[in-house]
Amino acid sequence: MALRAIVTDGDEVLRKKSKQVRNFGERTRLLLDDMWETMREADGVGLAAPQVGVLRRAVIIDVTEPWREEHESVPRAGDESVGADGDGADVRAESSASVSDLPLPAASDALSRSAPDLPVNAPGGVLYELLNPEIVASEGELCEREGCLSVPGVSGLVKRPERVTVKAVDRNGVEVQVEGSGILAKALCHEIDHLNGVLFTDIADEITRAEATSGADEPQAGAS
Ligand SMILES: [Zn+2]
Repeated sequence: MALRAIVTDGDEVLRKKSKQVRNFGERTRLLLDDMWETMREADGVGLAAPQVGVLRRAVIIDVTEPWREEHESVPRAGDESVGADGDGADVRAESSASVSDLPLPAASDALSRSAPDLPVNAPGGVLYELLNPEIVASEGELCEREGCLSVPGVSGLVKRPERVTVKAVDRNGVEVQVEGSGILAKALCHEIDHLNGVLFTDIADEITRAEATSGADEPQAGAS
């Protein structure tokens, strides 16, 4: 695997429509492996192939950390262990009570970022690797703040569906269907927009820019 450079706003590659992936061989595997390494280095939630300069319809998503933050941010009264050391049983109890459609994978101590043994494209999982993804159904609406690794230091409020169903194929060309809500729905929509040359700043309100003093090279946690 190798790190690839993340292209930033102003590069015309981000404005082009990506082509369908038709090659499920070594070249596509290499692209995807490089994208994982690049996204993790940048501490991102998602990455689309055009962000590394490749105009192919390929996206990856890792909602591990935002998922934890969303669901551990309000510990229940009297529950000392939630958020203390990431104890698996308590995290699961918390999650199943609040959001039933995004359960944590069984082994929650494997939740640290870059854990190699988490399943990809599993129902209710946190890692997704999708080729030729298409939104086939959506419902509801959420308006939340987003950022993008290709637009460093900028965030804005974007309206997205609360829940989406995406059809795609995996790296072996096998059809997969992903249902996502909340952070996963947002990431799916954001990454698929990249494949169509759309940046979140095109559709965002209340766009804010970080002060110029915070270096643009800093990883931007939570961006995609
Ligand atoms: Zn992005």
